[in-house]
Amino acid sequence: MADQDDDRTLRTAIERLRVKPGSDLVLSKRATDDDFGMTKDEALERLAETRSRIDVLQQRLYAESRRSVLLVVQAMDAAGKDGTIRNVLTGLNPAGIRVASFKAPAGPEAQHDYLWRVHQVCPSRGEIVVFNRSHYEDVLVVRVKSFVPEDVWRRRYGHIRHFEELLGDEGTTVVKVFLHVSKDEQARRFQERLDDPEKRWKFRAGDLDDRALWSEFQSAYEDAINETSTADAPWYVVPADSNSRRNMAVGEILRATLERLDPQIPEPEAGLDGVKVV
Ligand code: ADP
Repeated sequence: MADQDDDRTLRTAIERLRVKPGSDLVLSKRATDDDFGMTKDEALERLAETRSRIDVLQQRLYAESRRSVLLVVQAMDAAGKDGTIRNVLTGLNPAGIRVASFKAPAGPEAQHDYLWRVHQVCPSRGEIVVFNRSHYEDVLVVRVKSFVPEDVWRRRYGHIRHFEELLGDEGTTVVKVFLHVSKDEQARRFQERLDDPEKRWKFRAGDLDDRALWSEFQSAYEDAINETSTADAPWYVVPADSNSRRNMAVGEILRATLERLDPQIPEPEAGLDGVKVV
């Protein structure tokens, strides 16, 4: 009974991370360090259970082969996109899961509209795809660094809403997470990267330029999330100062998305009853 109560409490806490359409998200009012009332070990244990459940649901999604899931992961540097993806997806069947990462557009990508490269790597039926960065970069870094004029990036909120609506109408459930790290925690993680020879490769001098634009990025995130968190393609603001709770929370969001889809194993062929394999 206690377990069921804990489960309900956790689900409610996770649902509170969702940004309701029409709400006016202010990131500074959202926690970066919520522990969801769990110790680190409890969060790890919960994620392990959640992964097993995701594994079952993913196999059903694949067997059903009608619908798909797109999980978008966005964050400031060092909030832990890579670690989240690794920890939430580890041990799942690679045949049904794919990760697509987006860097600054180059070559043919730069010669097309910004959604061209994105649409090509969206999930096929039965697949779960995770975007490590995404089309949102085109209203985030592109805005903050003034790569295009304001009227151009502003129009994109509408494109993105329509694009995600199209995906939803055609069978892809879109869910988006922003890993919300504090500026102090980012500093700590940058320093750790610099000081640890095993981690230094992750650090780019440009990371400090982006850090100097922290408040501009936070405003760009607030606007992007407010403009594009819809009932069918919601954003969740996930506290990211603690790796274990962050991973646990993203696991819960993916699991809840799959539970709502409730994928069904197809009916077996008729006439298989009593068939003996000799
Ligand atoms: P990551 O930080 O995701 O681990 P990188 O260090 O290679 O990987 O950074 C990728 C970079 O590509 C980021 O600085 C990001 O802002 C940039 N980027 C991604 N998409 C776009 C885009 N559409 N326009 C400009 N820059 C982009």
